[in-house]
Amino acid sequence: MTISISLTWSAGVTDWESEVFSRAVHQILHWLFFRHPDSFFDPPIRVETFGNWEIPAIAGREPHWGTQWYVDSSYDRELRRVIAPVYLELVRRAPWQETAPHLDLTLLDEDLTDFPAPMARQRPDHYSLGTSYPGQAAVMSVFRLRLLAEDLARARALTRLVYHHLGHILAIPPFGRKERVRRRGLEMHCTNRCAMRHPQTVAQLLAYIDDEAGMGWPFCPECTSALHSVIIAQSGNWN
Ligand SMILES: [Zn+2]
Ligand SMILES: [Zn+2]
Repeated sequence: MTISISLTWSAGVTDWESEVFSRAVHQILHWLFFRHPDSFFDPPIRVETFGNWEIPAIAGREPHWGTQWYVDSSYDRELRRVIAPVYLELVRRAPWQETAPHLDLTLLDEDLTDFPAPMARQRPDHYSLGTSYPGQAAVMSVFRLRLLAEDLARARALTRLVYHHLGHILAIPPFGRKERVRRRGLEMHCTNRCAMRHPQTVAQLLAYIDDEAGMGWPFCPECTSALHSVIIAQSGNWN
């Protein structure tokens, strides 16, 4: 069975931001497929772009009516942040996950925290750029990236964030990897010069971007090989 990645975003995400987001996902998958001629013509991972979707018939009346329902249901007014663990749990338990299993990648314009609400209240300065359930779903935010003055810097920062979370939903680095990895909650991170290093703050993200400049391809050899294994495993399933 082929897997699909659903791309969604909240109402406040601009066309420009959603284009950068979508382009980063397609770019990585194309590069990977290019190495596997069969999958280039018959992609084992499909991207479905839903954007800021809603089901008009149930909008505002029943759960799961659209992207904004997930945002509203996980938004903490006091913290003025979306609680990522709550958001991801809603996505994971969405009814269509049973009928049509897929991976989810979401971009929000609301601020985000990866802490549960009580802990987040004790650390009001703490925020998250993105959080994931590896192998399932990730939620990212442009809220902090918008503070970067230049378009180019914002585009690079968002692209690097998307690479990182695309890696997470494809479950790289794999849990079995023992070296040059650092676990953070459910997430596995790479410690090589690689897009799978975890940025907690905008400053850290920018430092990684500088450090990774000139790499050409954003993932280290170990993570790249894990990505190729995902493509091969999926192609095998598909054929
Ligand atoms: Zn991460
Ligand atoms: Zn890596």
